[in-house]
Amino acid sequence: MELVFLFATVAAVFVSFVDGAGYLQIRPPSLNQCCYEDINDAHFSYERDFCEGPKYWCKVHPCWTTCGSQRRQSPINININETSYKSFSRLKFDNINTRVLATIKNNGHAPDFDVHEEFDDEITLCNLHVHLGRDENKGSEHAINNIFKPMEAHMVFYDSEYDDVGEAKPKKNGLVVISVMIEVCGKSKENNECGVHGSCKVRFAKKLSKLMEKYYEKVRQYPLESINPNSWDFIDLLSKKSCSNNNCGRTPSPDFIEERCEKEEQNDRSFRVTEGITPLDVLPYDTHRFYTYAGSLTTPPCYETVQWVVYKCPIKVSSKAFRMLQLVEDSHLDPLTKFGVRRPLQKNKKVVVYRNFKIDNEKRLYCN
Ligand SMILES: [Zn+2]
Repeated sequence: MELVFLFATVAAVFVSFVDGAGYLQIRPPSLNQCCYEDINDAHFSYERDFCEGPKYWCKVHPCWTTCGSQRRQSPINININETSYKSFSRLKFDNINTRVLATIKNNGHAPDFDVHEEFDDEITLCNLHVHLGRDENKGSEHAINNIFKPMEAHMVFYDSEYDDVGEAKPKKNGLVVISVMIEVCGKSKENNECGVHGSCKVRFAKKLSKLMEKYYEKVRQYPLESINPNSWDFIDLLSKKSCSNNNCGRTPSPDFIEERCEKEEQNDRSFRVTEGITPLDVLPYDTHRFYTYAGSLTTPPCYETVQWVVYKCPIKVSSKAFRMLQLVEDSHLDPLTKFGVRRPLQKNKKVVVYRNFKIDNEKRLYCN
């Protein structure tokens, strides 16, 4: 099987449907409501023990019941010794040198780069975002041999057979997410172009660092005007009754998804990323070796429709870029480090993770 990534994108329409650290779900902070009738009111949190926290996402809204599945939920720990070798060819990116138009917004959970350009291609890049944690060294969602990294970048692609990512998202094989682990440069090593980490040559992602430094500053403050107090009147306080939703683990039917689960577009404040983006900004030095498995979105609705590609080798960004991400505010005006932006590891009954490289053939790669 050859995965061919061709670059393209969609017009602005999909913006509020992206995966990842990705949904804008604003709620009045004081209501502490934990389940909702209307998907447009539904809200999730990364606060561990809170009733809207990761353990309870499946109960918050009937559209999110898949979050309680144990079939193929993400993220996971990739235990290298349990992976199976399969000879995938190297991922092929077309138009890789073309920078595509993008905007950035603070979605209330994290800053999102959204792509706004369309090519006539097979798979469309629509979103780039970066996860981080409460603990500086544990911010990635995936782990490799139980080792986490400070951050993890996700590039979200959808099958161009669909009109937009919202349509592709619930469909089987609708999405591909490429994941790259991110380390932080030591202050004194910021100009160091590469380092060696195990068998990986670690690329300093200079352009990504610049984008993070410049644009996370712009979206640091959560735009209060995007909270529409009028909509709060419609939240039915009595809907707490429906918190007994115990369909956790089931996937809603396609009809249900179509009727109940599509959110209205949010009126986000976004900024133009004048230089555009390309996956080259994010890809590691070694693009030959990766893991791949069939998983899910890591935010509600947690649909099990994502083919994950997790690169073996990390990149690193400047410490300033890391700091700018840490300072971004969530929809409760807390810095993202308060609860982190990462779903805990999922325990699936059986997920096969493939690697496209032979472990005993690994060569050490050194900086020149
Ligand atoms: Zn993500």
